[in-house]
Amino acid sequence: MAITADVVVIGSGMGGGVTALALARRGIDVLLVERGERIRREPQNWSPEAVFRDRRYKPDETWLDERGHAYRPGVHYVVGGSTKVYGASLPRFRESDFTATEHANGLSPAWPFTYADLEPYYAQAEELFRVHGTTGQDPTEPWRSSPYPFPALEHEPYIADLADRLRGQGVSPAANAMGVDLRPGGLCIRCGTCDGFPCLLGAKSDAETCAVDPGLATGNLRLLTGVRIDRLETDAAGRTVVAAVGSGPDGEVRISASRFVVSAGAVNSAALLLRSADEKNPNGLANASGRVGRNYMMHNNAHIAAFDVRRRSDVIFQKTLSVNDWYHDEDAAGVMQLVGKVRGSMMKLEVPLAPTAALEQFSRRSVEWLVMAEDLPSPDNRVLVDASGRIVTHRRALGVTTHRRLMRNAKRLLHSVGYQIIGTQWFGIEMNSHMCGTTVAGDDPATSVVDGWCRAHDIPNLWIVDAGFFPSSAAMNPALTIAAQALRVVAESDLAA
Ligand SMILES: Cc1cc2nc3c(=O)[nH]c(=O)nc-3n(C[C@H](O)[C@H](O)[C@H](O)COP(=O)(O)OP(=O)(O)OC[C@H]3O[C@@H](n4cnc5c(N)ncnc54)[C@H](O)[C@@H]3O)c2cc1C
Repeated sequence: MAITADVVVIGSGMGGGVTALALARRGIDVLLVERGERIRREPQNWSPEAVFRDRRYKPDETWLDERGHAYRPGVHYVVGGSTKVYGASLPRFRESDFTATEHANGLSPAWPFTYADLEPYYAQAEELFRVHGTTGQDPTEPWRSSPYPFPALEHEPYIADLADRLRGQGVSPAANAMGVDLRPGGLCIRCGTCDGFPCLLGAKSDAETCAVDPGLATGNLRLLTGVRIDRLETDAAGRTVVAAVGSGPDGEVRISASRFVVSAGAVNSAALLLRSADEKNPNGLANASGRVGRNYMMHNNAHIAAFDVRRRSDVIFQKTLSVNDWYHDEDAAGVMQLVGKVRGSMMKLEVPLAPTAALEQFSRRSVEWLVMAEDLPSPDNRVLVDASGRIVTHRRALGVTTHRRLMRNAKRLLHSVGYQIIGTQWFGIEMNSHMCGTTVAGDDPATSVVDGWCRAHDIPNLWIVDAGFFPSSAAMNPALTIAAQALRVVAESDLAA
């Protein structure tokens, strides 16, 4: 099959979906190529067993770690990418995330643009993803030129009481910025299956709902699903991409275009560029700097379950609150953020031998958090492809000292507001949901892969727009920043020319 388009976007997740929408709205003929299919609306969308135990929406794929051990990565090959199952927590990064900052374990480098450069696009991305939030509660919040599009989600009584208790300990619990459809007449019912699950109602602000489908409605966007792009081909000089070549159910697919956008997610984009090595680009495309695949980051994350035998929790939609007070702390920078309510049936998947009734009782007296600290870039943490084309990741977590101190602070705080037992689940290499950094943006072509507008230094008709461009990981959820940068790329670079 041979197809042509003005611009081809590879990958329909946060980066690709938003880029495709923004281009289509400018009247450009865009082809969006996605290796997966749409997730069907089906009862299994909300089944913990189907989603977590049976991995219904994850590919049957393994990657190798540096010791050659296979693991199943946290990726989702579907229309909308990982946003189909994400927690829809959509905060902006802080101004300091764009400047160089020294941490206990090393330097978090500066970005090639500032918060002020991205701010108008954050506002647009919040509109697009129907972000609900409020200002004035979080001492670390960045300035903004416009209010949140929608008011913050109200806390349920247990969480409102928790917020009071936390305030009593001198911290500033703040409403989470959330992307769900709680507009007047909106589709969201505040169910307990948002974080980690696809939305059966289409009420979560994921990239399929908020970007791909509105893009298709313009009439300028075509969506090709079930086609995995395997390599990009260049012209004789090796300086221009001429085709994206992939495989679909009917065999090889060859797509020609004048401009190409790679948005396959931080690891798969790097792998695609490395697999596209040719005579003129022997180390892979856009890789004159040797940085493609390096600086692989994924946050230092842990879950905490805090248990208070005296307090019963009937919370359904738990993810409405964060404590960000330590974000600028030199020793323990990071955030603690409520996650979706973890029910006994979900705990059972982690501890299968524990009696279900006991876990349900535990869950009715617990509250669950994500404690997130910055990961730091290192050239040694990298994505490679082996001789068979399989993905290999090398990662030694950096920023661990900061994360341990943050965990200590979080546990002390939770003990101080009455929790007697605190359980911890540290994230391993397979929990790479916040992966980034593998096609880093920078001004210097010797040390970066793309410029500040995600255009490849070596190949002028190639853009790489996904979490790969992050020079540092910050300690905030990444998706809104990816969306904002995609809008900025389309508005300010030659991609839409
Ligand atoms: C369980 C979970 C919870 C999360 N919660 C949050 C949250 O609350 N807030 C937040 O900000 N972030 C959250 N994230 C992270 C967020 O989803 C990602 O940061 C974001 O989706 C990354 O966007 P991306 O464009 O880089 O990649 P993705 O959104 O993953 O998109 C990549 C797309 O490329 C496609 N693709 C890959 N290879 C190819 C190929 N060769 N050819 C064609 N298509 C290809 C994939 O199928 C996929 O659709 C969460 C992630 C997970 C997994």
